[in-house]
Amino acid sequence: MGNRRRVLVVEDELTIAESVAARLRAEGFDVDLAHDGPQGVAIAARTKPDLVVLDIMLPGFDGLEVCRRIQAERPVPILMLTARDDETDLLVGLAVGADDYMTKPFSIRELAARVHALLRRIDRAGQVEPEAAAIVVGDLEVDPVERRVRRAGVEAHLTPIEFDLIAHLAARPRAVHPRERLLAEIWGWGDAAGTRTVDSHVKALRRKLGADLIRTVHGVGYALEVPK
Ligand code: CA
Repeated sequence: MGNRRRVLVVEDELTIAESVAARLRAEGFDVDLAHDGPQGVAIAARTKPDLVVLDIMLPGFDGLEVCRRIQAERPVPILMLTARDDETDLLVGLAVGADDYMTKPFSIRELAARVHALLRRIDRAGQVEPEAAAIVVGDLEVDPVERRVRRAGVEAHLTPIEFDLIAHLAARPRAVHPRERLLAEIWGWGDAAGTRTVDSHVKALRRKLGADLIRTVHGVGYALEVPK
């Protein structure tokens, strides 16, 4: 069953963990469960999941630390579960490198839909023309084939979704991209409830590539500035 996708669910609340796992298994995924932070990191290293559903409040060490350790190993999409909206805001502010967030209580059906959307995005990212040209905007260089980004010659280490976002913005420098549109085109979902996810990734890109690169268009969205 080489084509089956493997999802790791790291969640200490057993009822939530079991119902998420049951739904994802019913949709054809291989699912592993971990119930604390250290176990989550260990299982991720062993099973190399295609995606991780990660609760923030965990025994051992928390979801933030799990996220850091898993991403240090290799880039993998992470859907973060939070207990409250203000917790999501906090994480968004920290730009922890999760690809998407859901606040409890959430619908299992919607969680499954977001898992599919994240994986579809990864599949699309893998279908780049082998001769696709690098995008150069000022001192920013985005190479879609090798999926590398450099600013003033210095490579930045981006998560897969951060790469997709900067590549999308760089393809049309100066154009204003509404957050809802970015959410639909990059994350692949149509409702506007997750625009904080976009903000989180813009913050991460600013931290990694320089604060001057992406302009906030208040009440609308973001635009790539042309770096000097
Ligand atoms: Ca928890």
